Amino acid sequence: MTRFILFLFLILNSLSLKSQLYKPLDTADYAQRKVFIKTYTAENELYIKDLKNRYPGKTGQELAKIYKEFETDFVTQVKNKDFIFNSALDADVAALIIKLRKNNPNIPQKLKVLIAKDNAPNAYCLADGTFVINLGLFNLLENDDQLASVIAHELGHKMGEHVLRDIVGFINQDKMDKITVQNIKSDRLNRNKKAFDVLKIRLYRKGIEKRKNEMRADSLGFVLYRKTDFSKTDFVNALQNLKKYDTISPVPVKLETYKKYFSLPSQEFKDKWMKKEDFSAYDYKAFKAKINEDSVASHPEIPERVAKLQKYFTELKTTAPPAPSSESFKKAEHIARMEILPNFFHAEEYGLGIYTSLQFLQENEETKYYENWLGKCFAKIYEGRKNYTLNRYLDRIDPKDQSESYQQFLNFMWNLSLNEIKTIADYYQNKKS
Ligand SMILES: [Zn+2]
Repeated sequence: MTRFILFLFLILNSLSLKSQLYKPLDTADYAQRKVFIKTYTAENELYIKDLKNRYPGKTGQELAKIYKEFETDFVTQVKNKDFIFNSALDADVAALIIKLRKNNPNIPQKLKVLIAKDNAPNAYCLADGTFVINLGLFNLLENDDQLASVIAHELGHKMGEHVLRDIVGFINQDKMDKITVQNIKSDRLNRNKKAFDVLKIRLYRKGIEKRKNEMRADSLGFVLYRKTDFSKTDFVNALQNLKKYDTISPVPVKLETYKKYFSLPSQEFKDKWMKKEDFSAYDYKAFKAKINEDSVASHPEIPERVAKLQKYFTELKTTAPPAPSSESFKKAEHIARMEILPNFFHAEEYGLGIYTSLQFLQENEETKYYENWLGKCFAKIYEGRKNYTLNRYLDRIDPKDQSESYQQFLNFMWNLSLNEIKTIADYYQNKKS
């Protein structure tokens, strides 16, 4: 599901800040990364020490283990260049945090900002006070006010210690499960059913907890947000925009687009490339129903969350269009859009990169730029095909989880021969104009 929704936001088009050949953000910032890791690990160690004092005994030890594991994982991500340092975006987000702090002295002082090369619209705040903002957020939100509201929501989680409380809850629950499992071992007949019940109760409880945490973070976040100069109604507008991410359908890639970009001087277009695997028994209405169901599952709470907010904070009952966007936000939006392909490429999502390039090319957006990415991704697909590692970079067809258009694309890709892939890669990598 996560992979599928990654390219849904492309429909939100029509911002056209034309640039003369965009240069992707630089990630060769070795020194900055090194400094960041040093500060981050030091802060995290302090946090772990504090936790051990607050939770003596086994719980504290388990917490220390979990947070240490997270640290290792996170440092690997930083070394892997999953984040961008010192871009104009860091400064923008830091400025928003300062504005939020204006009448809120209780907002932690030691917050740091980190921009992630990730197209999913998401943000989170780590235990040590590092604020991670995904580039994808800029593709979905409309102004600084909405971005500030997402930050306020995350601050709500952070200040309410929701993650920590979830983990402590999970540690205690886990202990209880172990006891329960031990008890039911003696009862052979009902063992499976009881084990299943334990799991079900745990999953169910987790769902309820998550919902409650979201609503708590909304309220805590809005309490911070209402004291600032940001447009109040954009707190709700931001939530409505995040909901779009799940409900909008992807732009289908048309047959003409395939013909336009894959009829080459040295290789003519072959109709057999478009031949689809036979899934005629598959009911596409059921696929649509599933998307709706999954959307409800991934953001079950948005309409409910909006209703709750409006109940507690009557000023949110009045709705209004988004506040005008600042020049710096427009620039950030443009950067985020141009970074969609570099992000896919960095994550080795070459198949998705080609599909997305075709969507942009079909709209005649930045043709030169996306033809270039088409070439780069095809070169990687060629390597993968040659080394029998293509499965890593290109999805297999799965009617249950993919739109018809994306399946058509995958059929096309898997139908190409090794030589045909090479011809396409060479053509677009060497194309000059
Ligand atoms: Zn949240």
